[in-house]
Amino acid sequence: YHLLAIETSCDETSVAVLRNGRDILSNIISSQIETHRRFGGVVPEIASRKHVESITVILEEAVRTAGIGLDQVDAVAVTQGPGLVGALLVGVVAAKSLSMALDVPLIGTHHIAGHIYANRLIGEIVYPALALVVSGGHTEIVLLESEGVFRILGRTRDDAVGEAYDKVARALNFPYPGGPYVDKLAHEADDEIELPRAWLEPDSYDFSFSGLKSAVLAEINRARMKGESPSFASLAKGFQESVIDVVTGKAMRAAREFGVRQMLLCGGVAANRGLRERLTRLCEESGVPLLIPPLSLCTDNAAMIGAAADLKWRRGEFTSLELKAEPVFSLEDWSVGK
Ligand code: ATP
Ligand code: MG
Ligand code: FE
Repeated sequence: YHLLAIETSCDETSVAVLRNGRDILSNIISSQIETHRRFGGVVPEIASRKHVESITVILEEAVRTAGIGLDQVDAVAVTQGPGLVGALLVGVVAAKSLSMALDVPLIGTHHIAGHIYANRLIGEIVYPALALVVSGGHTEIVLLESEGVFRILGRTRDDAVGEAYDKVARALNFPYPGGPYVDKLAHEADDEIELPRAWLEPDSYDFSFSGLKSAVLAEINRARMKGESPSFASLAKGFQESVIDVVTGKAMRAAREFGVRQMLLCGGVAANRGLRERLTRLCEESGVPLLIPPLSLCTDNAAMIGAAADLKWRRGEFTSLELKAEPVFSLEDWSVGK
């Protein structure tokens, strides 16, 4: 069957066509990064307007690249939330119109379920599995007891990892989004400036990154007061090591506690080289198979939304045309059978 998926939750307009929920026939992504860069972050109002400009073009391109006709589309999936409400609305309106015009089912989809199930496009998921979600807006440890059943074990109490990376990058004078620059700089460092690790309560799977971000800023200010300039590379490495220690430390502890048979890394920060390397080594040592999507499926794209929507397609769980954009949307509530 052919599933057409739409993603517009933030600053990427993306449309994909999947065959049988697994094969990517097309996955067209139009990024607005260049537009938002001069503001140092995503401007919601501009994001919505850009989605409106791009959506029909991207849609046509996705269908054309897939080599099918619109009459061969069997279902339409769309990111329902979480995300920027004005941005989500553009995708939701497009998906509803298509579903109505083509008379095919509509599947409202959760953005983070998409990030997690991007892994299903590259391999078989074995349950129970543990997902480490690290993105621009989320940092979560999610237990998947069975297919499509989500239980959040821990989440960030303040900044998401990607957000912390972007704020630190800004302090180091890198353009937005700065995560990849910090990652690269950290690899060029000879030594590291020791920074704190926010483990929180011993049994907690929650995260906090705002203190670490402040520690980086404090190091820069301290050096400036003395008329020095700190080694940005050593700072980047100190920051990256702290982040990696904590996120992989907690993920491996959860993997042991719940006896999972697979680890899934996902979200934009899964592109981080240091994080990929460390998690790969730790999973090998513990004998837990690990899946990490290729970079193009880690950041926002519609193919991952289709991969998550396929769970609902196979169970015949469709969404009515009353579907609304949900800027705040619980992943657990999106579980199958709910
Ligand atoms: P969410 O999915 O939570 O709504 P989002 O979709 O905006 O957020 P993603 O596109 O998944 O987020 O990820 C973008 C984030 O990933 C940015 O903060 C970016 O800096 C970060 N990032 C990308 N590559 C790297 C890297 N190599 N190292 C660290 N961070 C990175
Ligand atoms: Mg983005
Ligand atoms: Fe995302």
